[in-house]
Amino acid sequence: MSRTVIHGGLVVTASDEIHADVLIEGGRIAALAAHGTDAATSWSADRRIDATGMYVLPGGVDAHTHMEMPFGGTYAADTFETGTRAAAWGGTTTIVDFAIQTMGRSLREGLDTWHAKADGKCAVDYGFHMILSDVDDSSLKEMDRLVAEGITSFKLFMAYPGVFYSDDGQILRAMQRASGNGGLVMMHAENGIAIDVLVEQALAEGRTDPRYHGDVRKVALEAEATHRAVQLARVAGAPLYVVHVSADEAVDEIAAARHKGLPVFGETCPQYLFLSTDNLAEPGFEGAKYVCSTPLRPREHQEVLWRGLRNNELQVVSTDHCPFCFSGQKEMGRGDFSKIPNGMPGVENRMDLLHQAVVDGHLSRRRWIEIACASPARMFGLYPKKGTIAPGADADVVIYDPGAEQTISAETHHMAVDYSAYEGRRVTGQVRTVLSRGVPVIEDRAYVGHAGHGTYLPRGTCQYL
Ligand SMILES: [Zn+2]
Repeated sequence: MSRTVIHGGLVVTASDEIHADVLIEGGRIAALAAHGTDAATSWSADRRIDATGMYVLPGGVDAHTHMEMPFGGTYAADTFETGTRAAAWGGTTTIVDFAIQTMGRSLREGLDTWHAKADGKCAVDYGFHMILSDVDDSSLKEMDRLVAEGITSFKLFMAYPGVFYSDDGQILRAMQRASGNGGLVMMHAENGIAIDVLVEQALAEGRTDPRYHGDVRKVALEAEATHRAVQLARVAGAPLYVVHVSADEAVDEIAAARHKGLPVFGETCPQYLFLSTDNLAEPGFEGAKYVCSTPLRPREHQEVLWRGLRNNELQVVSTDHCPFCFSGQKEMGRGDFSKIPNGMPGVENRMDLLHQAVVDGHLSRRRWIEIACASPARMFGLYPKKGTIAPGADADVVIYDPGAEQTISAETHHMAVDYSAYEGRRVTGQVRTVLSRGVPVIEDRAYVGHAGHGTYLPRGTCQYL
């Protein structure tokens, strides 16, 4: 069995910060021992990694990505191959992507399609959530089978009428089913019916620029949908995970539900923490780069999101990585913001941006690892295999240089997209080396991984219930 020792670093997990050496055996963490002790120095190893002055972190878990997702007549630009490679560059060693049920087809067929896209392509490990486009008797029955085989979370949309939208009755039925089978319903909470009216009115009045995308997708319509989702989950006796929370009033709804003791969870994304409607209003058609749903909000929402993350009103930061090139894809919406493909790149930037939040004083180091690694792993049934550094865990380990300075740019990133949403932003901290199940994927800032190393992860049910 191959043995690796990582020595001299500061091991940071959601619960501890310890100067410990880490022994890896056959792809798993075998032991930790205090640095400099006889125990640690007696370990024999095939490979030794010097982590002096570095953090030794569990690999990031990004629970919300959309590789090669079809949207509005085009596809998200990252394949599973390029997207998981970029994830590794950014210190993320697990993604959970969304398989999509095509309207009128079975869940199984959608899942098979996503397996075919990912199989043999991924640089790091991956799992799937399932998007329910059609809630009927047969898809409800299929939910039970999927939970049993490791697809334990199901996304529903209160937005996008005619595409992914489910009405309240369908949502209630899916939640009732989830309450019986252990599944977790993930909700895109925006009132899409009302938003579509506002879109139509804006376009009719000639308000066609990207900034109006943010205008019509009102805070009140995110908060209202979040409230309604909470009440439906409460009636169904089901847990609820609200994806990409962007508005202060939506955080309030989640906090109020949690205060009542309801099993309601919230996720936000780096774009809502670091970007704002100022970006959507950039001149020319530049704002299209920042079109995603839920939309970016005015700057003042950011402080509420940071507070929510600190207070555990929000538990997870994922990326909603769904990149479309500016050239040829975002441009489809020139003269009509409603035709701009919704989504932004970010899978490579999440760990660094959240480390910057540690530097800036928004988060503690341990909370950084909690919201980026441990909590998403627990939320989606992957802990402690993923999300921590402890004996028995997969040896998904990031050697992180907390003092390195870097400038985020499309020139240097590894995502298959022609712009960066964070172009020119200086951040402190950078990934040096990444192991996936003990195997180097990034070594001293060189990619040494390969497509097909990443394996599919059947998941357990939510570990917060
Ligand atoms: Zn998404």
